[in-house]
Amino acid sequence: MPSFYNPEIETKDRSSLDTLIDERVRYTIRYAYDRSAFYRHWFSENGINPDEIRVHEDLLSLPVISGRTIREHQPPGTPDFQFLSTDWRNVFTIQETSGTSGTPKSFFLTWDDWKRYAEKYARSFVSQGFGPEDRVVVCASYGMNVGANTMTLAAQRLGMTIIPFGKCDFSSRIITSYRPTAIVGSVFKLLRLYRRLEHEGIRPKESSVIRLVAGGESFADESRAYLAEIWGCPVYNTYGSTEGTMCGECTELAGLHVPEDLVHLDIYDPEMKTFVYDGNCGRAVLTTLLPEGSKAGTLLLNYDTEDVTTVVSRLPCACGRTHMRIVNPQRESETIHIFGTTMNRVDVEAGVFQYDNMQFLNGEYEAFLSEGSSRNEIVLQVNVESTDVDPVNRRLIEERFVERLLKHRRELAQRYADHRFSVIVNVVGEGGLGLHKLKGRPKRLVDRRA
Ligand SMILES: [Zn+2]
Repeated sequence: MPSFYNPEIETKDRSSLDTLIDERVRYTIRYAYDRSAFYRHWFSENGINPDEIRVHEDLLSLPVISGRTIREHQPPGTPDFQFLSTDWRNVFTIQETSGTSGTPKSFFLTWDDWKRYAEKYARSFVSQGFGPEDRVVVCASYGMNVGANTMTLAAQRLGMTIIPFGKCDFSSRIITSYRPTAIVGSVFKLLRLYRRLEHEGIRPKESSVIRLVAGGESFADESRAYLAEIWGCPVYNTYGSTEGTMCGECTELAGLHVPEDLVHLDIYDPEMKTFVYDGNCGRAVLTTLLPEGSKAGTLLLNYDTEDVTTVVSRLPCACGRTHMRIVNPQRESETIHIFGTTMNRVDVEAGVFQYDNMQFLNGEYEAFLSEGSSRNEIVLQVNVESTDVDPVNRRLIEERFVERLLKHRRELAQRYADHRFSVIVNVVGEGGLGLHKLKGRPKRLVDRRA
């Protein structure tokens, strides 16, 4: 029996959904023009009459903005917050995103914004089979990021119980005493939690946990499959950000559903000039969609998420939902260019998590790309952790890694055959990787080329 949080919206047929999207595009554009200093200038500077943006395809005529645009239009760049699009009286919270460079971006959230964010997570939880009987440990951090708080608000709507730990370092007592049915965290937090519980004598497979929700960063299908196997339960992906993308996989595991009535996603070509056809990979550019009459503290029109993804399908999903599905987005900042091909951190992860490798490895990895001893040679060194690997198995791990990495990369495979591209897999003991000494989210693929 399929279950929906908002059946009317989630199962709307394509043409009614497109009509609703277009209505909201018009209201949102008008709202932005009327309420935000940034957009008012932006429309006139670019010679655009906001009334001419009638349907979602018209968004292509607007320039794309980025995180940098936000940073340049807030203190100290400007005296006030030019993206702020409501009275201070309506601002419920101020969030910041921990930018990789410079001042964090400020986001102003009204209670309407929070309600819309919660609605997106509530839909996604229901699509993953959650309900009032669930007890969920949230390992995502509460604070300036919206994720954990939004999930907690969503849980209230579904009557779920939340155990708001915020971190994954909780005592095993939490598992045995409260018998949670699900845990939300990143793939690596959940892997480490598994190892720690096993060490403390708790078999995660035999525990009360029947689902995991992984988010916070992109991951390979292989690492998800491994996590699902060791925990003995499905792992669902959610992709959320303070900017308001909150997409979630349903139990069909057929891509992440985009809540199309609340956020519009366009996929651009690498030059950011045009949309790509469905099925092609491109840059995810989002536009907030406001229902008529609602308020927003920060609006984003044509915002470059700096993530790349592909539309899987706009046809109805087997779960009954009609909202489009996308593949797990990857961070553009984790992509490197090598011999005319691109390689993402997730590609390295996929190689590490090859099924037969995982009988020796714990999944932790770090990779470095550097120039080789001879000119024109590039070396990818991948460090992995294991308690016990003999030289024969190390070589097999390396072979499986290389095979996965070079699959679908003909150019790179040719360079590998010509000895202009080499791969070295290095095995260190558990806890031996350099990244454990670094603070914050580690960079697992580092380009050290000059
Ligand atoms: Zn579905």
